[in-house]
Amino acid sequence: MRSQIKLLHILTLLGSSFLLSNAQASKNPNLIVIMCDDLGYSDLGFNGCEDIPTPGIDRIADEGVKFTNAYVSYPVCGPSRAGFMTGRYAQRFGFERNPQYDPTDPNMGLPQEEMTLAESLEQVGYHCGIIGKWHLGSHPVNHPLNRGFNEFYGHLGGGHRYFPELLTDRDIFEPMSDYESYFTYIVRDHQTVETDQYLTDEFSDEAVDFVKRNQDKPFFLFLSYNAPHLPLEATEEYLSRFNHIEDPKRRTYAAMVSAVDDGVGELLATLDELGIEDDTIIFFLSDNGGVSKKNASNNKPLRGQKGDIWEGGFRVPMAARWPSAFKAGIVYDLPVISLDIFATIAGLNNAPANQGRPLDGVNLVPFVNGENTGVPHEAIYLRKYDQQRYAIRYHDYKLVIHKANAKPQLYELSEDIGETNNIANAHPEKLEQLGKILNEWTSELQDPAFLGLTHSDAWIKKRKNQK
Ligand code: CA
Repeated sequence: MRSQIKLLHILTLLGSSFLLSNAQASKNPNLIVIMCDDLGYSDLGFNGCEDIPTPGIDRIADEGVKFTNAYVSYPVCGPSRAGFMTGRYAQRFGFERNPQYDPTDPNMGLPQEEMTLAESLEQVGYHCGIIGKWHLGSHPVNHPLNRGFNEFYGHLGGGHRYFPELLTDRDIFEPMSDYESYFTYIVRDHQTVETDQYLTDEFSDEAVDFVKRNQDKPFFLFLSYNAPHLPLEATEEYLSRFNHIEDPKRRTYAAMVSAVDDGVGELLATLDELGIEDDTIIFFLSDNGGVSKKNASNNKPLRGQKGDIWEGGFRVPMAARWPSAFKAGIVYDLPVISLDIFATIAGLNNAPANQGRPLDGVNLVPFVNGENTGVPHEAIYLRKYDQQRYAIRYHDYKLVIHKANAKPQLYELSEDIGETNNIANAHPEKLEQLGKILNEWTSELQDPAFLGLTHSDAWIKKRKNQK
């Protein structure tokens, strides 16, 4: 499998240079990745949402490509983001749990041996900024400015309160838990700063400002909204748009998504205004499925929600736009994964990846353009170590092991997107084939390297004893 991926990578690199010389696409295009947090699969206009209009985000899909079979590499925030940020399955390097907020532990986060997307792009002259949620380690060694970013404006933990009057903690070393970190002031580079508006608006304004300030050089902006992650908090301005939604949870959730959509709309308008829209690749996606029982998100027709190895856990809404290279209105149906973003931009720039730690993604450009009609990935993999849950999607078949020692289940996703009809008994040969490929992958993985949010009690006790 590894050699297949390598070969594909080389082929796609060749493909991309062909494209650049022929389509005269810009060299060193800017990269903007807009990631939402716990957004439901069907909560955007481009994925069929009817009660929350999202014209800003829909522009990306309408003017570019909509991915209908897009995955992230894990169904909760931290490991999914670690995968995106390194272009590799985070189970390969022990990042298989949501990290605790612990600025005293250098091992609670991305290992130093792994290369981040920003560390790669800075080597080919990119100016890199992250706005919003980090969640890849709160110890100074893992601060974004020590992991390749030139600018940081956001919060280091897994979520945040949205109203400025709720942010009361000036000292980012003070919180004893991830939840306590929700109350810290926002951090600009290394300093906490006072803010005066709704957090989503704050991040959107900062993103517009970042693009204006950096329009003359190649840049990478990771706009990492913590919305619509819990807690459900929205301003009257956004809530008043959804008086027609009776369920108060869904209404607040809709308002939070609408705030993000306004921000994305403004960011796209800024690119237009500056005349750099053709030179900018934008990806939009969610970091995992909606946590539908708690935030009233909608993952239908997918089964399950955040945390699950069902499709609702890690199949996400995703779109990309790059006017110089992608025709408008493409719908791309073959499986892709968030790990492809690193490989795509690195392939276009000949940006370095880690020696001996190969990327798991591929450059998507030739696939989207139709130059490569093959599959970007034979298989998409998932392991959740703590629950001993496993899944593999191999072409349209998906094998699911829902708990330790459980009988494997088999689904055919092109006919059964909701994973309702277990066809394991009818296809023993498929079960065997997929099981074998899955085992090959898991043999390359490490055990988790740190305790996670699900071990909070033990962790908080340990930290309190340290004090
Ligand atoms: Ca998340």
